[in-house]
This record gives sequence, C-alpha cells and structure tokens, in this order.
Amino acid sequence: MITNGLARTRIAHLPTPLEPLPRLSARLDGPELWIKRDDQTGLATGGNKARKLEFLAADALAQGADTLITGGAAQSNHARQTAAAAARVGFACRLVLRGAGPPAAQGNLLLDRLLGTEIVWAGERPLADVMAAEAEALRSAGRRPYVVPYGGSNPVGASGYVAAMEELLAQCAEQQVHFDHVVFASSSGGTQAGLVVGARALGYPGRVLGISVDPPADRLRPLVSELATATAAHLALELTFNPEEVAVDDGYLGGGYGVVSDLERDAIRTLAQAEGILLDPVYTGRAFGGLLDLIRRGAFRADEQVLFWHTGGTAALFAYGEVVGG
Ligand SMILES: *Cc1c(COP(=O)(O)O)cnc(C)c1O
Repeated sequence: MITNGLARTRIAHLPTPLEPLPRLSARLDGPELWIKRDDQTGLATGGNKARKLEFLAADALAQGADTLITGGAAQSNHARQTAAAAARVGFACRLVLRGAGPPAAQGNLLLDRLLGTEIVWAGERPLADVMAAEAEALRSAGRRPYVVPYGGSNPVGASGYVAAMEELLAQCAEQQVHFDHVVFASSSGGTQAGLVVGARALGYPGRVLGISVDPPADRLRPLVSELATATAAHLALELTFNPEEVAVDDGYLGGGYGVVSDLERDAIRTLAQAEGILLDPVYTGRAFGGLLDLIRRGAFRADEQVLFWHTGGTAALFAYGEVVGG
C-alpha cells in the first residue's frame, strides 16, 4: 500500500461497502449509479473524517500528545468524529465551535456532549486563533495538546483518502466494476486531495469530481491541488498537481454553507425512498442533489458508471428536522 510507511491507528470500520443503486438508476434513466458507504466508517455514526483520523490520531500518539483540539461549526461532523476518536484512543478532547452555544444540544452537538469533550464557544473569532490559544493554555497547564486542523485537512489527514482510493480500486477489481466518475461533497479539500493523489499514483483513469459545498471553485481548486502536492510529498511520491487538473463543480452553493433548500430536501427524500439510505442536510444532500441535477441535464452518458462517495454526516439530520421537513 502507498500509505504503508505511515503510522495508522485502526479505528475506522474498513473497507466500507461498495454497492449498486439499482432502483434509483432504473428510475433516473441515466448512468448506472453506485455508492461507497463512508457513512458507515464508525466513530459515533460514521463519516469521512474517520479515515483522516486514523492517521491524525497515530501522529498525535507518536508526538506524545494527551489531548486533541479541533474546531468547526456547531454541527461539525469532523468535531464529533474527533471527539469519538479521542475517546477511542484515550485522549482528552477540546472542541472549539463557532458561535454561541444553542439552548439545547441536538445532532452532532448532542453526541459531542455524550462523548465527554470540553466545548469552547468561539463566537465570531477565527477558529484557528482560538484553537491556537487553547493549545497554549493547555501547554501552560502542563498538558500535551495536538491540534487537528479544520476538517482534518492537512497531508497527514488527507493520506486517509489516498488509502481510500486504493481500497476502492481493490473493490472494483474484486467486484468487476469500473467507474467513469467518482462524485462527492468537497469542502475543506482533504477528501478530494487524497483521492486525487491516490488516483494519479494508482493510474485510475476516471474523473474525480468534487461538488463544492462551500468554497467557490476558484478557491477550492488551488486549495486541493496544493494539499495534493503536499500529501504526495508526505508519502514520498514525486507528484505535483495544478488547479486546472482538479475537477470542482460549484454550481450548487445556493444560500451558502448549511442553508438547506429544495435541492437538499429532494435529494435526501429521493435516495431515502428509492434505496433506504440517508444523506445529510449540509454536505451529502447538496452533493447528491448536484449529481441528480447533472444527470437530469445529460452530463453523463447512459453507458457510464458513476460512483457517489457518501461522506457521512447523517447525525446532523436530527438538528435540521424542521428545515429538512420531517
Ligand atoms: C467534512 C465533510 C465533507 C467534506 O470533506 P472535506 O475533506 O472537508 O472536503 C463532506 N461530507 C461530510 C459529511 C463531511 O462531514
């Protein structure tokens, strides 16, 4: 394996299932659709951050850390999975969350509380500044903090998705299936950077298409290409990437991060009712909504095979009940 040289803690449930979506494919009259179930990775309801945390937690252990610090939105899946990884490996955990605490903890925030993490509300202050200040405060108190970056997206974390591409291609060989396109929600860029490095290193010829959930394409493309180049270097691979080689569709940003519209509502219902699989309101609902729209607009040929990589987040459904329309 490409990632064999790196320290890794085996805390995710892998490999995740690779499954066809026959009922939905038949209904759409488009390409053949499959799904990769990274909503089933474990760590307190699953998601893509579990793959990154296998490498990040190992790095924290190697550095002798005793506490993980990370940050995100109040409904951050990354924060919740980091809290679960900390509990699993035996670290304390401190989460820096944007805004002020809501009166009742629901969804991911409820899980953060159950997982026993300390929560620091950042208000409008930049998360990275508050995370650095919290790390400093812990160090002065004699503790050994390890800061997991926003989204787990640095070369250590992104290595999880290099390994994931290797996992996918092994499953493709085993199940005798090939994908012309791999489509998923992209935001802090670590998932896409890892997949892009894995694709190039392993000679995967298909397209790796990130549907942006948040940043415009002219920001996300260079973010991914720079992180991909750094991740390749971390793995001792001599590969470099340009923004023009990174496929991003930013046509589905709607009202902005976390603002649920008909696109997400319809996508969630469509997949739930055709296949019994739940999406989330912020990331996969938007990305799958984008994929359904691309299919309707004829962006794929009927003889192509398209993989939707489910990146998790379903715990957030329980905090978005009203806007999703239960
Ligand atoms: C974090 C997250 C993403 C985006 O992954 P990045 O590596 O940050 O681009 C997608 N889906 C879900 C459910 C997430 O929590």
